[in-house]
Amino acid sequence: MKALVFEKSGVENLRVEETEAPKAGRGEVLVSVKLGGVNPIDEAVIERIPVKLPHVPGAEVAGIVAEVGEGVTGLSVGEAVTVYNRIFDGNCDMCVSGKENLCRHGGIMSVVTDGGYKELYAVPAVNAIPVGNMPMELAASLPTAALSAYHALKEAALSAGETLVVLGATGNTGRFATQLGRVMGAQVIAVSREGTIVDGADASLDYSNLKEEVSRLTGGRMADVVLNSVGRSVWDAGISVLGTSGRLATFGVLTGGEVGLNLSWLYGNQVKLIGTTGGTRKEMFDLVKLSSRLTVRVWKKFSLDEAKEAFRGLHSSERSKTGRAFIQVS
Ligand SMILES: [Zn+2]
Repeated sequence: MKALVFEKSGVENLRVEETEAPKAGRGEVLVSVKLGGVNPIDEAVIERIPVKLPHVPGAEVAGIVAEVGEGVTGLSVGEAVTVYNRIFDGNCDMCVSGKENLCRHGGIMSVVTDGGYKELYAVPAVNAIPVGNMPMELAASLPTAALSAYHALKEAALSAGETLVVLGATGNTGRFATQLGRVMGAQVIAVSREGTIVDGADASLDYSNLKEEVSRLTGGRMADVVLNSVGRSVWDAGISVLGTSGRLATFGVLTGGEVGLNLSWLYGNQVKLIGTTGGTRKEMFDLVKLSSRLTVRVWKKFSLDEAKEAFRGLHSSERSKTGRAFIQVS
């Protein structure tokens, strides 16, 4: 079977290799991977994060169950699944309170194990989430893009009637945060470099005059929830539009992670800063239920052989204005 592999860090070192097909072990299923999302986390794994080499990246994949291992119930060959990408033991205090993303003995598949940019991917059966007949583009966008956004909105306790400002709204998570904010009943203001109109947004803005624009749209109340998945470059912009008793959730550092913070602003407005990472298994099932209300804009689909191009275009304005990148695995 074919797999995308690197033996030395760097996108330029990606290559397609013919490797031995795995088997589904006890408690596992073998997924015939169809499509993989291309995300900043995959880029970070390829470029920077120390991993065991050689390594197969790919945090976000979906496909068809090709083989069911011993002891697995509830999944059958031929069923379409998406792969929840957190490894978790199911036993620690985090897991038993439904926080598999924070498992004391866990990690992210594609970081602590090989990822899914390969034709056959053996995964624990508990990580294979049935997706019915939803489009493969959506199934391959749930585990990272949609889940990170949904989890952040849940942790920020966004509720109907509130105002949500999504920074980096044309990113993979930003586009889902905008749509999910709408689904959750919020007024959504999507903010991106180009002010691109984003599905689900009540208003789409760029960063110029952002504070004045948000003030105008909210009658001076400003945002109840701000999502910053971009990091340092938009930190001050996020702070400037957060209202009294607001919540600012953050889960990405694409532009850097060191920021300034005025403590008197923090307590004087009684705001909450919330860090979030990934999402829970329950939230994956929630997303499957919500999927008919979500859409995915596709920028381009690349073959395994074209994977370098997918990563080189990840931060391009063409990608940002259009949609997201996928790798068509088989
Ligand atoms: Zn655990």
